[in-house]
Order: sequence, then structure tokens, then C-alpha cells
Amino acid sequence: MKYVGRFAPSPTGPLHAGSLVAALASWLDARAHGGRWLVRIEDTDTPRCVPGAAQLILHQLAACGLLPDEPPLLQSTRNPAYTAALDSLQQRGLAYPCGCTRKEIDEASQPHERHHERIYPGTCRSGLKGKPERAVRVRTDPGPIINWNDRRLGPQQQDVARQVGDFVLLRADGCWAYQLAVVVDDAAQGITHVVRGEDLADNTARQILLQRALGLPTPQYLHTPLVLAADGHKLSKQNGAVAVDVNEPLHALRTAGAVLGLPTLDGRGVPEWLAQAAPAYTQRFARLEI
Ligand code: GLU
Repeated sequence: MKYVGRFAPSPTGPLHAGSLVAALASWLDARAHGGRWLVRIEDTDTPRCVPGAAQLILHQLAACGLLPDEPPLLQSTRNPAYTAALDSLQQRGLAYPCGCTRKEIDEASQPHERHHERIYPGTCRSGLKGKPERAVRVRTDPGPIINWNDRRLGPQQQDVARQVGDFVLLRADGCWAYQLAVVVDDAAQGITHVVRGEDLADNTARQILLQRALGLPTPQYLHTPLVLAADGHKLSKQNGAVAVDVNEPLHALRTAGAVLGLPTLDGRGVPEWLAQAAPAYTQRFARLEI
């Protein structure tokens, strides 16, 4: 089997201990399967992007010996592909323009108890009724529940229509939504295996729904353990994540390896440590079907 994996950071800040876990796991998984490993810079959410962060992340990855097999793909260069995908959905009535403001949505719906996001009540499904177009949403008609098997978390399922609702593909601020961009690019890059942080697991059903609507293949998914901050939440810039120090890559790799449950490895340099981590990873995750 031809394995292609990827690490897809958003350049909203430097790589930190949490994001390095996903980077290392996706790299090790690709290596363990004799596959290729790509890096994609997910810079569609322009208000959150930090100038220079993409270059810094690539520099930090390189310091950790994680070098992509192709030049990184920038989502900011991919507008034509996202436009084509959106057009195809709209032409087939699978996506529709929405003119609702956040206030209108807030007034018409309750936040979902699990992810605290509001479920769009479907107001604009039958047309904008004179409102200006703000966003574009996908139709999530009640139908089969999406089932998928996470290689680490096991069987998962979600009723997207009921639990998420018609989600946004093109945002009111003109930015492409993560769900559309990730699905189009995973397919365009031929990604066969997605390895990423467990905080993203809840997005998978939405992505599978879009893959099906666009006639794209569904990769295998593996969601890695998260690094938690002192406050018990996922480690992030907001709760004290510090950037991976390019002068101490081995320390960062060892910490990330421990999160993945790898044994202590005695490699004293980055290449040596990675060479030991690959078989250790295979052994630890051998039971994960691919
Ligand atoms: N860009 C996303 C993030 O940094 C990850 C996307 C993915 O791996 O699917 O959270």
C-alpha cells in the first residue's frame, strides 16, 4: 500500500509541546509504514495567522529532524481548488448561501451540550429572502449516522445533522473554513493516513460527510493523546505552552515520545533518537490496524 501522511499546522504561533506530539506521531507513523510524510501550512484563517510563524514551525520541525518529503503546501495558494469544490456542492444543491448574523443564530438556537457550538437552525436553506449573503453552509440532511474507526480510539460515530447541523464552508469574513480546505487538500495530496491531535477527532465525521459529497476518498484516522496544561485543558498558547526550543530538540522529542508512550530511548543526538523511536513506535502501536 502506498502510504502518504501529513502534519498540517496552523501558523498561529510556534510549534509547542502539544503540536510536536502530532508532528512526531505522524512522522513516525509514515516512517513505520515506509510512507511519505508531507507538511501543509493551514493558513486559511488569516485573522489568526501570525506573520513568520510558518517559517518558524518549519525551522523547529527541521531542528527536530522532521523533514517533509516535498516542499510544504500552503493553503493560501489553494483558492481555485476550494472554489471549485464549493461550486460543485452549490450546483448540486448540497451547499447554500446563508445571510444570518451570529446574533440571529444565537437567538434561534441553543448551544449543543457537547461542543457548545450552536446548531444552525436552517433558516437560509430555503433562500436568503432578501438578506445579503454572508457565509456558505453545507446541507446536513438527517440520514445515515457517520461511522468511522479511529486507529487509537476505536469505533466512532456522529449524527452530523443532529449533533452539528449545517456547518460553514466559506466564512462570513471571506476565509475558507477548515473543514472544506482540509478535505480538499487531503485528497489533492493523496493523504492515506491522517494522524493528528485528539482535540480534532470531533471534526472527522464532518470531513467524511464532505468527502462523500465531493466523491473523495476517506483516509484512515489516528488521533493522538493530548498534552494537558496545568489547568487540565489542552495545552495551547493561551494556557502557557512554550515554543519548542530549537537548541534543545532532543529534550522536546523525548517529552513528545513520552506522551506517545514510547519507552525512554538512549539516543544522544536527534537522528539517533529518531532511528530508535521508529521501531519503538511500531512496537507500541503494532496493534493499530492500518
Ligand atoms: N490545522 C489544524 C490545527 O493546527 C490541524 C488540521 C488537521 O490536522 O486536520 O489544529
